Amino acid sequence: MNPRAEFARIVVPSPIKEALTYRVPAGLESALVPGMRVLVPLGKRKVTGIVLELLHESTVREVKEVSGLQDNRPVLDPSLLQLAQWIAQYYLAPLGQVIGAMLPPAMRAEARRTVVALSAADAASGTERRIFELLQRNSGRLELKRLRDELRRRDLSQALARLQACGAIEIRETVPGSRRRQKEPPHLSGAPGAGRRLTLNAEQQKAFEAIDRRLLGGGFETFLVHGVTGSGKTEIYLRAMERVREQGRQSVILVPEISLAPQLLDRLVARFPERVGVLHSALTAAERWNHWWRIARGEVDVVVGARSAIFAPVPRLGLIVVDEEHDPSYKQEEGLCYNARDVAVVRGKISGCPVVLGSATPAIETYENCRQKRFRLLELTKRIRERPLPRIQIADLRSAGASEPAGPPPEHRLISPQLAGLLESNLRRSKQSLVFLNRRGYANFLQCRSCGYVLRCAHCSVTLTYHQQKNTAHCHHCDFRLPAPDTCPGCGWPTLAGIGAGTEQVEQWLRRLFPEARVERMDRDTTGRRGSHERLIRSWESGEIDILIGTQMITKGHDVTGVTLVAALLADLSLNLPDFRAAERTFQLLSQVAGRAGRGDDPGTVIVQTYAPDHYAIEHLVGHDYKGFFDAELEFRRELNYPPFCRLVQLRLDGPRADAVEAKARELRRQLDDFRRRRPGLRGQIEILGPAPAPIGRLRGRYRWQLLLKGKQPSSVLELAGLAPQVLGSSRSVRLHIDVDPYNML
Ligand code: ADP
Ligand code: ZN
Repeated sequence: MNPRAEFARIVVPSPIKEALTYRVPAGLESALVPGMRVLVPLGKRKVTGIVLELLHESTVREVKEVSGLQDNRPVLDPSLLQLAQWIAQYYLAPLGQVIGAMLPPAMRAEARRTVVALSAADAASGTERRIFELLQRNSGRLELKRLRDELRRRDLSQALARLQACGAIEIRETVPGSRRRQKEPPHLSGAPGAGRRLTLNAEQQKAFEAIDRRLLGGGFETFLVHGVTGSGKTEIYLRAMERVREQGRQSVILVPEISLAPQLLDRLVARFPERVGVLHSALTAAERWNHWWRIARGEVDVVVGARSAIFAPVPRLGLIVVDEEHDPSYKQEEGLCYNARDVAVVRGKISGCPVVLGSATPAIETYENCRQKRFRLLELTKRIRERPLPRIQIADLRSAGASEPAGPPPEHRLISPQLAGLLESNLRRSKQSLVFLNRRGYANFLQCRSCGYVLRCAHCSVTLTYHQQKNTAHCHHCDFRLPAPDTCPGCGWPTLAGIGAGTEQVEQWLRRLFPEARVERMDRDTTGRRGSHERLIRSWESGEIDILIGTQMITKGHDVTGVTLVAALLADLSLNLPDFRAAERTFQLLSQVAGRAGRGDDPGTVIVQTYAPDHYAIEHLVGHDYKGFFDAELEFRRELNYPPFCRLVQLRLDGPRADAVEAKARELRRQLDDFRRRRPGLRGQIEILGPAPAPIGRLRGRYRWQLLLKGKQPSSVLELAGLAPQVLGSSRSVRLHIDVDPYNML
């Protein structure tokens, strides 16, 4: 017989890197399995931990004892535990933080109650009998806290654990309010017609069959469905998910933002009635908790959600789909930094199931992975029903209004006469137009015409955006707001003027130019309230809006057939950012927004207003030439040695005092240099850039410096970056933020 497992390694929510060893009390060892939540003492507190593994012996001398179980079953299965360990290693994060990110917030929050409920009756010890009496007096259910208050006994935890282990009682956590019946959000009812199963065209069929062969044969493989906008990628995902359901398995599909995907939700709900689980951050804690358990109990066939849904606890994972895999929202920037697209591939590998990435404009790294034969490329080159891709015209802003001595009239500074003409004729034909400007607010910033003073954020080194409706100056980074002043805070003259237009101003111009048109705006300011987003997309879909103006929100995934005109106003806003992905991001945004045009019977026109018509991102955009863009971009990356030619790790330091942050950054550089010198394996392998102040040198009151590590071998870059926490020590005033494969260079 095996010796009994006397010890358990347990991950607790703390910055401690390693799991801690605890003793398993007698009576509990048969109930305890890896992945379970337990209550353990940590310092003076009791915290929730996750069992990582059980041990027969321990080298640690003084160990404390596990206080009790939190559930009857594991919350993380072995594959998710393995994934957690991979993430901790690759993203250089404490395991406790990783596991915290994997579980719904209610499992960690303090806002929950632990309830003890009666399920059988067979008591032994005095304490156990007392527990029973008390439960019976309270109709079999009691909050743990009250139980503790009433029975102040030292062996209470042990008695509870024993009763729980033999199934006499159940200990559950509930989230306040979760017992109320939850109203399904309106979209979960499914829209008429969304359930139609479409006959695949030849390209779709070929792509589906490649995935299907893998599903039938079993095993891991990553596919990239590179399909132009409107080529019918979704139908391929749905077919594959149907196959997975037939196999008695579950699929997980990630979308960039769930509120932007009502049409996909409709189709999922119609094709998998009552069997769709949703996970995303806009759900209340109670909703999330309920969905999470439904998924864990295997009560859904499909889980859909934003990036954190990659941790969905499905019991038998059969397929992962990442739609719009290039989208930057898959990158988590705060807390645990990870890229859900990359994690998806690793999870597929661990679980032995296929992973399908889809995009019209794949990330450079992803497409390169196809060329290196790590991923399999499946191409959809044509739109459904052979509809043509929209025609893209360039409006060169450099010449606009040049003939007029005082510059163009204000309404034409943003909306060129050419565009105004197209909008006019589109209105006359009762067609819809989409106007894209990736900047919200009324004016980009406020400047004094007399003294040049510019209104800046009190906490960040950025200018404040002027919002006319609320009459505020607003920081888009930290949410700081000022009532817009009437006079210049610098010189006192009433000469503050807005410079550079945002969506709010464009909306105003459009309403003035086309007073009879139904104009709406979609950006973060108009979609703040829950459901307002969806309402806008719905009225856009049903043709109740003639002209929709918006930020990048309008570039994503909706399929509206009435749209025949798309305009990008200042197409190169994203081109000028100090970020090596600026060209890629611009190409993707513009291709996606252009892809909204001409999805119905009438062909689409796109007009791109730019100051940089000769830039390769714009040139290849016009020709719908992803491969041309990819080749040009790859050359640029090769020359400057950026991904996919190297791995990057960004080390960012921030703190309230500029000199302290700078000093720590310089010290970090010195120590990393030292270490690199002493390790022959790392010499010449890794380039260290910086330290330098971040492009946004101060954010939310904290000064920011950064270093960038670059190297061919991921393992050596990670090894070096992994030293940073030790160098920083436990400095409270300067924080270290490690970002592996960073997206945000600002
Ligand atoms: P993508 O995601 O590639 O941009 P979608 O999946 O949104 O494209 O499909 C575009 C439109 O074509 C949708 O309205 C969809 O219902 C329709 N469609 C997809 N496949 C077919 C098909 N085989 N036959 C007819 N219509 C299809
Ligand atoms: Zn700010």
